[in-house]
Amino acid sequence: MMSSNLWEQALSELRSEIDEKNFETWLKTTRFQRFEQDTLHLAVPSALNRSWLTRNFSDRISEVVERLAQRPVGIDIHIAPLGDAVAESSVAPSVQPRTVGLAPAGSGGGPQLLPHLTFGNFVVGESNRFAHAACRAVAEPETEAWNPLLIWGGVGLGKTHLLQAIGHEFVRLSPGARVLYVSSDRFMNAFIQAIQQDKMAEFHATYRRVDLLLLDDVQFLFGKEGTQNEFFHTFNELHSKRKKIVLSSDRPPSEMANIEERLRSRFEWGLIVDVQAPDLETRIAILNQKAQMHGFALPNDVAIFIAERIKTNIRKLEGVLTSLRHHWRLTGEPISMESVRSVLGHFLVGEEPQRVTVERIQQCVCEYFDMSVAELTGKERHRKVTLPRHLAMYLCRLLTDLSYPEIATRFRGRNHTSVLHAFRKIEKELLRDTNLQNLANYLTKKIQESAD
Ligand code: ADP
Ligand code: MG
Repeated sequence: MMSSNLWEQALSELRSEIDEKNFETWLKTTRFQRFEQDTLHLAVPSALNRSWLTRNFSDRISEVVERLAQRPVGIDIHIAPLGDAVAESSVAPSVQPRTVGLAPAGSGGGPQLLPHLTFGNFVVGESNRFAHAACRAVAEPETEAWNPLLIWGGVGLGKTHLLQAIGHEFVRLSPGARVLYVSSDRFMNAFIQAIQQDKMAEFHATYRRVDLLLLDDVQFLFGKEGTQNEFFHTFNELHSKRKKIVLSSDRPPSEMANIEERLRSRFEWGLIVDVQAPDLETRIAILNQKAQMHGFALPNDVAIFIAERIKTNIRKLEGVLTSLRHHWRLTGEPISMESVRSVLGHFLVGEEPQRVTVERIQQCVCEYFDMSVAELTGKERHRKVTLPRHLAMYLCRLLTDLSYPEIATRFRGRNHTSVLHAFRKIEKELLRDTNLQNLANYLTKKIQESAD
């Protein structure tokens, strides 16, 4: 008979498959509701939980549940806030101190929230769906979990936009809350200035008495010991007072070097999400949305033409639109394929055929693992070298047009079956190992960037 027992049994099985923290955050909070017409109804506390489960775990849940039930079972995940969470949120507003407006710019607090960087202007696609859901959740005053939230991803993929959108939404939902957006270099400059002018008290007042701190581009702090140390204490103070912290970075914590371990590990306390390069449809949607914001329309063929060519950086998409707008203003000609071709020339340099080479891939992988190309392509069979080697072969197959035998010759004339074997092995490990997924994504990005 199907009952909550079944879910408990499934849970205990699933528990052994994912790490403790993910289990606590995502699975333990999932409750059995009912079983009806071969569908298992589960309840989770938020849209973010649902989105995470659907994205990362629903196939595995189905497998386990179906095996236990011995028949096909549909899974339906509903959002139902936990009882105690509701009670908490109903008292929170009266307890929390609310002061006026945004935090003062203070010593180098800097420009704050830009009016157009809102959720309303953010186009959601597969590449950023989860990050967007996480940001929305964190902007809600009731959300206490996921502190800090860390958003990582390549240049121009919307990290700053999301940070700013959280700021806007947070102030909208909690009027009077103190929000501070600051880039990491500005944080550092303000810190240095505070030391020079003997104004640490003011500095602390600016950065440690906020309800939400949005710190952009933390990779800037790598190697800057003093600033890191200052931020460490800022972080601790805010975190212990349950103030929210949202960070952005160009890489995940696991790839961060030149950073104190105690700070790096704190970045992993909360939730880590990534933004990927948008797919074609999302790029087209972004183009149309931006054109509309500027008061003109983009013919379909033009939008597709641009989106097919500019793939990795949304800022570049915007650059094209700006040029088109100027051209349109100056000439009064409607935007057409002809005008696009004449305007776009320099934007397309390096965008069209992305030339990723085997050398590039080997070099990036070696740089990352701090080894030589000779070692990478050598005969040593220790895991320390075989993982990078397999990963490099996998990336060669994925990112170039070369065949298995062609790739094999670039790894000291190995047999093509060893490349095939490496490819399958990595492919399989990627399904289970999120660290490896992150690493593969990270390397892919590095390789593609350096190919531009
Ligand atoms: P990053 O901080 O990751 O380098 P930004 O947040 O500065 O990137 O984004 C670059 C530009 O692209 C910004 O003008 C931003 O508004 C725009 N942008 C990025 N992602 C989206 C999106 N999903 N929808 C709309 N605009 C976006
Ligand atoms: Mg940015």
